[in-house]
Amino acid sequence: MTTFAELGLAPDILRALDEMGYVTPTPIQEQVIPLALQGADILGAAQTGTGKTAAFALPLIQRLLPFANTSTSPAKHQIRALILTPTRELAIQVEEAVQAYTKHVPLRSLVVYGGVSINTQIPILKAGVEILVATPGRLLDHVQNKTLMLTQVNTLVLDEADRMLDMGFMPDLKRIVALLPAQRVNMMFSATFPEEIRKLADSILNNPTFIEVARNTAAVNVTQVVHPVHHERKRQLLAHLIKSRDLRQVLVFTGTKLGCNRLANELNKLGIHADAIHGDKTQQERIKALEAFKAGTMRVLVATDVAARGIDIEALPFVVNYDLPHNAEDYVHRIGRTGRAGASGEAISLVSEAETRYLKDIEKLIGNPIEVVIVPGFEPGAADVPAYQPRPPRAEHPVERSAERPSAERRTPRAKPAASRDTLFDAPYESAATPAEDTPALVRPRPQRQVAALFRSPVKSDSADQ
Ligand code: AMP
Repeated sequence: MTTFAELGLAPDILRALDEMGYVTPTPIQEQVIPLALQGADILGAAQTGTGKTAAFALPLIQRLLPFANTSTSPAKHQIRALILTPTRELAIQVEEAVQAYTKHVPLRSLVVYGGVSINTQIPILKAGVEILVATPGRLLDHVQNKTLMLTQVNTLVLDEADRMLDMGFMPDLKRIVALLPAQRVNMMFSATFPEEIRKLADSILNNPTFIEVARNTAAVNVTQVVHPVHHERKRQLLAHLIKSRDLRQVLVFTGTKLGCNRLANELNKLGIHADAIHGDKTQQERIKALEAFKAGTMRVLVATDVAARGIDIEALPFVVNYDLPHNAEDYVHRIGRTGRAGASGEAISLVSEAETRYLKDIEKLIGNPIEVVIVPGFEPGAADVPAYQPRPPRAEHPVERSAERPSAERRTPRAKPAASRDTLFDAPYESAATPAEDTPALVRPRPQRQVAALFRSPVKSDSADQ
C-alpha cells in the first residue's frame, strides 16, 4: 500500500496529514499527487468525497514551499495559487482543508466569497496571502476594486467546473483566466464532462493528464435503499423513519427551494428540528444552519443540490432523497455526502410512482438495482387522503388531477408518461407527472392560495397573479 511519504510529500506536510488522521492516500490522491508535484496540468474526473481536495491542494502547497516565509511584509506574501469553486460552502471547506494541510508551514491562505461584506476581506488581502480560494464573482469584485493582484499566480485550480458551468460562471471564469500569467500549472476537476467543459479544459489546460476516479460509481460503503411511497405520504414517512430509527444528522435533498423550505417547516411542526439551506438563504443563514447541523444541535438539514454541493461533514451518516434527482449523476453526488473516506453511510430514497423513471436512470448509471423496502403502513398505493382516481385512459394530453385534494403536492402534466414498475407500484396512477416542487409556481395548475402567496413579492403585489 502506498503511503503519503512515498508520493514524495515534504515532512511538514506529512506531519499535518498524520495529525488529521490521513493514513493512506485515496486513489485520486495516489494518481494526482506525483504528477502535480512535477507541475503537470491535470484534468480530473472526480466527485466530492473521493479526496480530491487533498489531491490538488497537497502538491500545490508543496510547490509553494520555496515561497513560505514568516515576514510581516505584504510584499513577501503574494497570491501564488488561485482555487476557484462554484459555491461559498465549497470555498470555505477547501480553504479549511488548506489551512489544516499548511499547519506546519508558513504559507497564508484566505477564502473570499460573495454575500458577505467585502470590507472584512480587504485588510487580510492587503496583508498578503499565498493561497486564495474564491468564488468567481467575488474574486472579480476584488479585481475591480484593485484589492488584489493576480500577476504572481503560478497555479490555478478549478474545482467542480461542471457546477460552475451550471451556475453561469463561464464568462467570469474566462475573464479571470485572462488576468493570470500565461506560465502556470492548471488543474481542473469536474464530475461530468459536457461539451462546454471539454472546451473550457482545452482552452485552459496545457496538454493535461486525464485522471478518472470512480466516476459515476456510487460509493461502495454507502448502503442504498429505496422506499416506494405515495407522494403525498413522503413527509409522514420521513418523519416516521427519523423518529422510529432515531436518525440524527440527516441530510435531506429536495428538488426545489420552495420544497426545501416547506419540508423543513413541516418537519419542525412534526417535532423534528430541521432547517433549510438553498440559494435564496443569506450567507449568514446558511452558515448558521450548517454549523448547527454539524454540531448535532439540529437534526435534519433540508437542502437543494446546489446548496449541498461540497458540504463536508465527517462521517455524515444519512442522506435522504426526498425527491429523486432528475439527473442521475446528481444522485451519485448526493449520496457521496455520506460514506466518505471509509466511513459507512446510508442513502435512503423516497420514491413516488411518478419518479420511477428517474430511479431507472439512476440504476442504469450506477450499474446495480437498489434494494427496495416497503415500509409497513406506507405502502405505495396508500395515500392518506381518499380517492385515487382510477387510471385514466391513455390520452395524448394527460388529465390533470381533480382539485379536491387538500395537499400542497400538485402536479403538472408532462408529455411523456413515466414507465410503471408494476412490482413496486401496483396502485393505479393518474397522469404521469413530476412533483409540484419541480414546476415553477406560475405555471402550476390551479395554485392554492396559501402557496401562491409565498411567491408574491412583498414589494410587488401585482404582476405575479396574472
Ligand atoms: P473531498 O473529496 O476532498 O471533499 O474529501 C472528502 C473527505 O475525505 C474530507 O473529509 C477529507 O478530509 C477526507 N479525506 C481526504 N483524503 C483522505 C485520506 N487520504 N484519508 C482519510 N481521509 C481523507
